Amino acid sequence: MATTSQLDTGLTRKPAGETIILTEDLHKYYELGETRVHALRGVSVEIKRGEFLTIMGSSGSGKSTFMNILGCLDKPSSGRYLLEGLEVSSLSKKELASIRNQKIGFVFQGFNLLARTTALENVELPTLYARISKTEGEKRSREALALVGLADRMEHFPSQLSGGQQQRVAIARALVNRPTILLADEPTGNLDSRTSVEIMDIFQKLNDAGLTIVLVTHEPDVAHFAKRGIMFRDGKIHRDELVQNRPRAAEVIKNMPTLED
Ligand code: ADP
Ligand code: MG
Repeated sequence: MATTSQLDTGLTRKPAGETIILTEDLHKYYELGETRVHALRGVSVEIKRGEFLTIMGSSGSGKSTFMNILGCLDKPSSGRYLLEGLEVSSLSKKELASIRNQKIGFVFQGFNLLARTTALENVELPTLYARISKTEGEKRSREALALVGLADRMEHFPSQLSGGQQQRVAIARALVNRPTILLADEPTGNLDSRTSVEIMDIFQKLNDAGLTIVLVTHEPDVAHFAKRGIMFRDGKIHRDELVQNRPRAAEVIKNMPTLED
């Protein structure tokens, strides 16, 4: 597993504490024929560099809608969104795509890896779009895979990897362009409890090294590894609290049974 010094080499270290995300009164409507769904109803939030935040809330409360806006996959119907001081709500689709590729790393519940492509090639893919040279892209991809503990699995195809390993490939892919922020929507939703804690261990170590993380989950056991928790209800922030007595995932794993037990 990765050490903190290995993590440092892969991440741009910028001062913690500066505001990197600021949303003001975000609203999102979806038009569906005659009906109109009001998915976000005035979401204002500030996220600083170095935070590790989880978003919880029942199904349909607006979590994914909010994450898609943070990730520049979608735009709000009204309100402002500033990413590192840049007003993104007014950008064109092309500009959004470029910001997304430079500043955002995504991790999804279903891993979303290309099946006929090795772990290494999956991780290299975002570097191709970022106009990073082939040599540099491959170097960074190898580093990112080593960081998530997969140095010995680079030539494997997704079907030859466990779910937890596939998610680690997806995390490496999300890190390879050295994003400002990592966004994860239910990243442990398809994993057993021990593997989920292993993934949270990686996120905690990345956050220790300075990476800002926003993670959606519906599991309180996952959320308590983060530093701050936001609860959505009916398209609004219902609660926003610091996590008390946050456990270290690496310690929790020691007391969990393995599949062989
Ligand atoms: P969550 O991720 O918390 O389950 P979502 O953000 O996916 O919630 O959805 C919030 C609301 O917006 C729900 O009522 C959902 O049905 C609606 N919604 C989400 N995406 C779309 C879409 N593309 N078109 C229409 N309605 C949508
Ligand atoms: Mg969702």
